[in-house]
Amino acid sequence: MSEELVAPILDLVNMWPGRRVASIAAELDLPYEDVYYALHRLQAENLLVRRDFRWFPFYEPVEGVLWGFEAEIDDRTCEKCRLLHGRTFIEEELTKDFLYVRKVAPYVWRPQVHPNCRCRLIRLVAIR
Ligand SMILES: [Zn+2]
Repeated sequence: MSEELVAPILDLVNMWPGRRVASIAAELDLPYEDVYYALHRLQAENLLVRRDFRWFPFYEPVEGVLWGFEAEIDDRTCEKCRLLHGRTFIEEELTKDFLYVRKVAPYVWRPQVHPNCRCRLIRLVAIR
């Protein structure tokens, strides 16, 4: 994570806890994935606390390669995606469990649980 991201992201989170990753990325004009990884790293370093994460699944520190399921939680989120929110998967499970998975970036896949699914699968940062 580039260090210059830390202060502006922490400022925004502290100003408005519960804010969505996409909204922070838009305000800072940064790619979603960059902000996501910065947040994940801040969480791993205990610079953010659980209450900051209404909009962001709170993952325990990860060893090895794991993927986190992240739904857009709002009144349009279906029950299936809501239940998957915050669950983690090993990579081999992804192609088995999500038949229509689409790789949009090395660290971000779309599970496409159903048509118009807004969820993401995020490759989690391994902590040592
Ligand atoms: Zn979904």
